[in-house]
Amino acid sequence: MKPSTAKLSSTVLKDVPLSTTMPVFKNNNAYASVLEKQTVFFQTGTTLPIQFRIDTLKKLKKCILQHESEISDALTHDLGKPIFESYGAEIAGTISEIDYFIHNLRKLATDTTVSTPLLHFKASSRIQYQPYGKVLIIAPWNYPFLLSMNPLVGAVAAGNTCVLKPSEIAEKTALIIEKIINEIFIQDYVAVVQGGVNQTQELLENKFDLLFFTGSTPVGKIMYKAAAEHLTPVVLELGGKSPVIVDEDTDIEITARRIVWGKFLNTGQTCIAPDYVFVHENIKAKLIERCIHYIEDFYGKDAYVSSSYGRIITTKNTLRLKNYLATSNVIYGGKVNENACYVSPTLLDSPAMDSPVMQEEIFGPILPIHSYKNIDEVIQFIANRPKPLALYIFSNSKTFQNTILQKTYSGGVAINETVMHVANHNLPFGGVGASGIGNYHGKHSFFTFSHARSILSKSFIIDVKIRYAPYQKNRLGLLKFMTKYFM
Ligand code: NAD
Repeated sequence: MKPSTAKLSSTVLKDVPLSTTMPVFKNNNAYASVLEKQTVFFQTGTTLPIQFRIDTLKKLKKCILQHESEISDALTHDLGKPIFESYGAEIAGTISEIDYFIHNLRKLATDTTVSTPLLHFKASSRIQYQPYGKVLIIAPWNYPFLLSMNPLVGAVAAGNTCVLKPSEIAEKTALIIEKIINEIFIQDYVAVVQGGVNQTQELLENKFDLLFFTGSTPVGKIMYKAAAEHLTPVVLELGGKSPVIVDEDTDIEITARRIVWGKFLNTGQTCIAPDYVFVHENIKAKLIERCIHYIEDFYGKDAYVSSSYGRIITTKNTLRLKNYLATSNVIYGGKVNENACYVSPTLLDSPAMDSPVMQEEIFGPILPIHSYKNIDEVIQFIANRPKPLALYIFSNSKTFQNTILQKTYSGGVAINETVMHVANHNLPFGGVGASGIGNYHGKHSFFTFSHARSILSKSFIIDVKIRYAPYQKNRLGLLKFMTKYFM
């Protein structure tokens, strides 16, 4: 793929009327015309009826299921992803999000009535959830299907139009995404833009009503700046270094198994993968031994030939990971084949805290393991660094768990588990600080892609005049009384 020129998918939504007004070209930007079309289409109000949104999501679900094997093939081509992981993490995740909205959208989209203080007598108050309008979704390559589709599902459920820019690096997946979108939508409603940095930057010159970006923290800053030009609200789903803390009092077998699973899933290329481990010094040796046991249990003695183990996305990233090994004490693995984009499951013993592997998001199958004596050292270490996207605690002790919950900050937490908190759509998924702004999944997606509009509706029956000018001194006492008791 990697198109040399910007390319727009041009499609027709099968049963939605095309916009009749021709777009006005405001500049030579390649994307202005599609945005004009989306503006016109949005203004027709076609996306507002809830039944229309539900029907659209049902069509999208059907189309995804029809293309299930093509999606898996593309993911295997792009990432060497095992079919089990493609289905479990990407297809099932998308279908479950669609199902959530098919069943819950009507309730979510209903205005919420809220109480009205007596001061406003006689009035009622409610919140109306309105789509923002045109949403731009920019996706990364590591879960290229899920992280394009899940935000799209939220955007469509909330009644927006959408421009979706999949990652150019997962090239086959980007094409199947485009194919699916083109089978369901006209580009007035949802358009796929293919391309890399240049195309994305050109897109960002346009005014959108919401920007939803998933990717790295440095590129997130570029997005934030571009959005600021148009005062476009942003959701930034970014990365970071997610720590694992292992208490002495833990079930070491399950701890090791769940860490190994969460770390080496998708070959470590998961935004919420355990980045590094802090384990109590008394059980460090045992934890390492059990981690090695489970690595071999999952992927055999040679993960290169395992059908359950994937590859690194590019040679560049393989070399980046290889560099981490040069100055580290490798206690297991450390095998790299850059031609095959292969890095074996690797454990490192206590790399220096100022080394790149402890400073940068690893985003690969390399797991540094540090020990601690006193949990306060660990808490201080985490507090001194950017807030991570996820944090993992393994402990039988509620006191231990609660101490860490109270004294650390992160986008999300899983206790005695890794990664799986992402798979509960009742939990908001997102970062904090350097790991992101905003969140989504389930109802949180609906609220993220909707503007909560306040409506105070007043009756003409009574009109208390005290607030009107000219202000009378003798009314001040009454005002104080009313604001104290009626607000
Ligand atoms: P990336 O930031 O390099 O790219 C993401 C998207 O931005 C791509 O579509 C790319 O084309 C575009 N892009 C890249 N550079 C750009 C630039 N200079 N100007 C404009 N657009 C640009 O991220 P990636 O390498 O695709 O993904 C890996 C990163 O994403 C990791 O940091 C990971 O933690 C993070 N991530 C976060 C989440 C989350 O939900 N929080 C999920 C997956 C990945």
